[in-house]
Amino acid sequence: MKQQVIYVIGGGASGMMAAIGARRNGAEVTILERNSRIGKKILATGNGRCNYSNLGATKKDYNHPEFVDVVFDGFGPAQTLRFFESLGIVPRVEDLGKVYPMSEQASSILDVLLYELEYLGVSIVTEALVQRVIKKNNQFTIFLADGRVFDADKVILSTGGKAMPKSGSDGRGYAIAESLGHHTTHVFPALVKLTLESPYLKHLDGVKYPGTVDLIHQGEILQSEFGDILFTKYGISGPTILQLSRKANAFLTENKKVSVVIHLVETLQREDIKMRFEMANEKPVDFSLIGLINKRFISALLKEAGIEKHNTLVKDLKQNELNQLIRLLFDWEFQVTGFLGFDEAQVTAGGIEVSEIDPTTMESRIQSGLFFTGELIDIDGLCGGYNLQWAWSSGYLAGLGASGRLRHD
Ligand SMILES: Cc1cc2nc3c(=O)[nH]c(=O)nc-3n(C[C@H](O)[C@H](O)[C@H](O)COP(=O)(O)OP(=O)(O)OC[C@H]3O[C@@H](n4cnc5c(N)ncnc54)[C@H](O)[C@@H]3O)c2cc1C
Repeated sequence: MKQQVIYVIGGGASGMMAAIGARRNGAEVTILERNSRIGKKILATGNGRCNYSNLGATKKDYNHPEFVDVVFDGFGPAQTLRFFESLGIVPRVEDLGKVYPMSEQASSILDVLLYELEYLGVSIVTEALVQRVIKKNNQFTIFLADGRVFDADKVILSTGGKAMPKSGSDGRGYAIAESLGHHTTHVFPALVKLTLESPYLKHLDGVKYPGTVDLIHQGEILQSEFGDILFTKYGISGPTILQLSRKANAFLTENKKVSVVIHLVETLQREDIKMRFEMANEKPVDFSLIGLINKRFISALLKEAGIEKHNTLVKDLKQNELNQLIRLLFDWEFQVTGFLGFDEAQVTAGGIEVSEIDPTTMESRIQSGLFFTGELIDIDGLCGGYNLQWAWSSGYLAGLGASGRLRHD
């Protein structure tokens, strides 16, 4: 059988993985990467530590579970951990199953991938911005912006989504796929900070505390997350908010209103708080809250409760003011006005329609010989190693698929 000539467009996490899978299976493989080096985004992942997988990752953690299920069946989290261990990465498992390299350095992940690509003899062409791909007589021709042209038997499109465009993934891959007959769903930033409507943001900027935050639509809780919550001058952030942002943004992009509710004293009972105020009857109300909540919340909370004079003695508060204050301590709602852009997002929601891709091989159902990987596809997962896991799984499977093998052993 003639050796397959495979071009991988995009040298990110999924593209490198695809190249390794295809080359190990005997194909001649070249990566075309627009940047001067490959794997740039990997260095930024996990705050420089690269949360490269999650022990608990299953289909349920993604927006198209059934599609992911088939892909994980071909090359799942367990194979991924073994793959990286075989390259020298010792996994270190942290809270909620997050997996990092024991070296605590994202560069370790990139280094072992680069070594493997070199060892296998994968060609890497950098400064290679692909502009157009055409297919004629079962052969692909790839056109670069600088005029260079390459011919391929198979093409693996691994150009990523639109998140962190300065790393090279600016959404160009969608146009290439569309020109070959594919469709892109609506794309929007996910795992991103939210903006809020509140007069207190300037004052609350920088306040961080651990707690539960609920995402609400029409009085119904859509999602709850526990962890660090961080107020910023434009809104709210922290791991909890990143997790909620996918759902929040999906509602917002459909012009549906959503809000977040925080619970400043969630570990206490209403009776405890009422008793606290009774005991502090003679104290100014602002002082009565010291030791209960972060001091920076106090003036904002009192204003929100309609208490103008913050040094009013607790015993002089009107009943409705006290009730309102207690209510806000337990449930303080903020209207979400939007989300920050792709520059700030960790992942792209939306992408190439999954119905147009065969999940056993990642091959296009529209153009035979064309394969897709990673964030370019309409698949995204939670924060915590799930998106890189998707990149590795879809990448390796596409590499095998393009080189003519059905699954990993
Ligand atoms: C700050 C940050 C932190 C993150 N941390 C984590 C984490 O800890 N754990 C986790 O699971 N996920 C994390 N993610 C998400 C994860 O990094 C991505 O989901 C994953 O890298 C996507 O891989 P990919 O191969 O699909 O795309 P990318 O990694 O974006 O790679 C695409 C590549 O294609 C190249 N390219 C694009 N267009 C062209 C073209 N036309 N011609 C040639 N080359 C092109 C780009 O330059 C780029 O190198 C993080 C993301 C960000 C932004």
